[in-house]
Amino acid sequence: MKKKLKVIGERLYLTKRVSWTERKYNPNYGDDRICKCGHPYYRHFDTYENMAPVGCKYCSCGKFKEQA
Ligand SMILES: [Zn+2]
Ligand SMILES: [Zn+2]
Repeated sequence: MKKKLKVIGERLYLTKRVSWTERKYNPNYGDDRICKCGHPYYRHFDTYENMAPVGCKYCSCGKFKEQA
């Protein structure tokens, strides 16, 4: 009996593993901490977007940095 030729070793998709770091609100950090922009820590996140780090809503400060 003749064996059927079967293509093996080829997958439907070539896959690539992708990873990234998600920055999220840290409730333990301290809401009262003041940023260099003059606004508190929690204002740098969007409460309507699952606390996404969208940046300060009062100014264009993109990343919280505590006042020295
Ligand atoms: Zn800020
Ligand atoms: Zn600000």
